[in-house]
Amino acid sequence: SRGPLDGARTPEDAAEATLRPQTLDDFTGQRASCENLSVFIQAAKARGESLDHVLLHGPPGLGKTTLAQIVARELGVGFRATSGPVIQRAGDLAAILTNLQPRDVLFIDEIHRLQPAIEEVLYPAMEDFQLDLIIGEGPAARSVRIDLAPFTLVAATTRAGLLATPLRDRFGIPLRLVFYTPDELRAIVSRGAIKLGTKLSDEGAEEIARRSRGTPRIAGRLLRRVRDFASVGAAGGGTISREMADAALNRLEVDSRGLDAMDRRYLLRIAEYHHGGPVGVETLAAALAEARDTLEDVIEPYLIQEGFVLRTSRGRVLGERGWQHLGLVPPKGQES
Ligand code: ADP
Repeated sequence: SRGPLDGARTPEDAAEATLRPQTLDDFTGQRASCENLSVFIQAAKARGESLDHVLLHGPPGLGKTTLAQIVARELGVGFRATSGPVIQRAGDLAAILTNLQPRDVLFIDEIHRLQPAIEEVLYPAMEDFQLDLIIGEGPAARSVRIDLAPFTLVAATTRAGLLATPLRDRFGIPLRLVFYTPDELRAIVSRGAIKLGTKLSDEGAEEIARRSRGTPRIAGRLLRRVRDFASVGAAGGGTISREMADAALNRLEVDSRGLDAMDRRYLLRIAEYHHGGPVGVETLAAALAEARDTLEDVIEPYLIQEGFVLRTSRGRVLGERGWQHLGLVPPKGQES
């Protein structure tokens, strides 16, 4: 893992619970997804039916778990959470499914890491609210069918492309979460400061927002760290200014564009060892001692969106903005 500043989850995130929005109205950003969800939730409630299955995909830390909880709360039903890697045996999933109350929400995080054999159990459960279980072994084995309460599966994945097509096709409501704008993040940071009981100037909130890689989870972490620096600094107890936020973020090695040490290692590797690329993602992963998935799910999406890096059929290429940010000049003929 990249340490405390990436989008992935850490034990510290227990602290996040206090910052989670509780309703769709309270949820900043992701307007298109939220408006669609709101319509489908109202329609399902009016019909007294379970909501269609929802697939949330997008980089870590953008609010997939938060939205799943909100969906359950807005539906007024129970919420049960698990994750793909945690479900080891078909019986584990069967136990969870048979315990659901009518119209409950079951949240499965990292659904792309579900074992294929368990995916097979999920298909009839999603489609017909039925479980087909094999009981016993050998010649005595027999199949039993169990009816389930109608439920809503809300599943999360970092990339929809990682799902098998038959699984992906069973979600009636696929929603793609996008990086947040600096304005949306500023609103989230300001609200977070109030919840934490910290005085933060608008300019301080703007500085944290601008350097949060478009990600609320990172914004929340940076806010807590900035607060730490401010509370032990000379101006402890006062309002956090832009200068104080800037100084704290610099000490955290979050640069002016919000890139951290790992982002810069990644960009420098392409610039210096590969003359700007193209270079394959496997080669980069090996050189940086990171899992390929981490590069593709956590590090690259923001760098690509912001034009620091381009993904081409021949590999990764440093973008114009990447060269600029490193203060380097592309080799002749390589200007991208
Ligand atoms: P994911 O499941 O996509 O990794 P989470 O739902 O766990 O992301 O969100 C990470 C944290 O970011 C949450 O605990 C919450 O504090 C914050 N967060 C996410 N989305 C929002 C939002 N729209 N408004 C405010 N805070 C948010």
